[in-house]
Amino acid sequence: MDPPKLPTPSQPLAKHASADGGEGFSSYFAHLTGNPFFTAGFGLAALATAARIGQKSLQHGAALLRRRMLVDLEITRHDHAYPWLLLWMTNFHRAQLAGTQPTPQGGILASVISRLNPRLHHLQVSTVQSKTGPSNAAHFLFVPGHGKHILRYGHSFIFVDRQRKEKTFNTTTGEPFETITLTTLYSQRNVFEQIFAEAHQLHQQMQEGKTVIYNAMPDWQPFGDAKRKRPLESVILERGVKERIVEDVQAFLKARTWYLDRGIPYRRGYLLYGPPGTGKSSFIQALAGHLDFNIAILNVSQRGLHDDRLSQLLTKIPPRTIVLLEDVDVAFANRKKPGSDGYSGATVTFSGLLNALDGVASAEERIIFLTTNHVERLDEALIRPGRVDMTVRLGEATEYQIEQLWDRFYAEFDASGEGKRRFLAKIKALGLTDKLSTAALQGLFLYNKDDIEGAIKMLEGLTAGPSHR
Ligand code: ADP
Repeated sequence: MDPPKLPTPSQPLAKHASADGGEGFSSYFAHLTGNPFFTAGFGLAALATAARIGQKSLQHGAALLRRRMLVDLEITRHDHAYPWLLLWMTNFHRAQLAGTQPTPQGGILASVISRLNPRLHHLQVSTVQSKTGPSNAAHFLFVPGHGKHILRYGHSFIFVDRQRKEKTFNTTTGEPFETITLTTLYSQRNVFEQIFAEAHQLHQQMQEGKTVIYNAMPDWQPFGDAKRKRPLESVILERGVKERIVEDVQAFLKARTWYLDRGIPYRRGYLLYGPPGTGKSSFIQALAGHLDFNIAILNVSQRGLHDDRLSQLLTKIPPRTIVLLEDVDVAFANRKKPGSDGYSGATVTFSGLLNALDGVASAEERIIFLTTNHVERLDEALIRPGRVDMTVRLGEATEYQIEQLWDRFYAEFDASGEGKRRFLAKIKALGLTDKLSTAALQGLFLYNKDDIEGAIKMLEGLTAGPSHR
């Protein structure tokens, strides 16, 4: 068979055409189509173009379908609801394993999805270990891992995409930045609201009976696990003191509309002062539990905390949270105006603290507790109403407090009250009345938990002991 004739450089196309006696392009085209190499090449090119067009239209079609029929919801790790959603998914997964939550079934889509991913396939483990329980006591939570998952929630399918953003970390906690995107059919977008409502409810159930402690790191973040609420009765203050503060806070909480109607910032400030170990922090924690509030703690002497930071933090307090500013006296040792020392010490200044408490930028709604062991270092300006509305001293244990504390430890061993009378008499004899902190007494009782005689005897050691303040 003759090899196909191709135009060679010595046979230029124009020349070739005129040599054909002017038959022109049609004969040239016929010549080309008669050429099997050309036809094959042309066919391939046409196929490739068609494939490309097909692919593009598919992409466009998919994008259009996606735009028209699907709805995405993205939530970032910064959002309060992020951990709630993870918790919800963990719970959902657990329910699926237990068989109380249906896995995809029925219908073509469901069967395809079942094959693809009937359950969460990529999990992350989160180990929970009790800090004080037996060392082998631990349980494991399986949290949906990074990647794509499909969930069937009621009649809706939800595509879950948990993604970690590379190289972006929270510089303080070291946690990577991540997002979760939920996708479902546009017509079923209402499920998102239901899921988030359930997630919120679940979160609240988990926190029930607990107080969340927030620390500034650098924004308010829950510090460790939520703590069991401390009962108010467990804090023993001088007769009537606890009731006075609790009544005041409760009256304030009821008066929200009154404040707002009059355009008065809805804030209340309390100052608790007195020696260390007299129950200032314990009382605030118990009060928060009693009111079903959380606590955001900030130590004014904390390194790196300066006026702007303090002010910023006080403008974005988490909801239903009491702010506790500890060691406020430190600010009074830093009387210099901000900037005068170029923030070299990076501490809160006197004017910075006053501004944070009632400056224009400070939060409109809040309850704040200030504590100090050195009230003598504070300035009158702090106790102005609006900054501090109530000042209470928590002092060394009075006779009333000692009796109460004694009963909490020894009521069952000392029904006649004989031990208590001897204990009090010995305190008087040693000149320790109003000289012992409640923390020191608690320490003594804890040491002699079931031993009344031991407690009475140990009082002698307290006179010269380091816990005697
Ligand atoms: P402060 O904040 O005044 O320094 P804390 O509240 O931190 O004191 O108390 C330190 C410890 O002593 C805690 O374990 C607390 O339970 C105990 N404590 C101190 N005062 C009291 C009190 N009035 N009633 C009950 N416990 C107290």
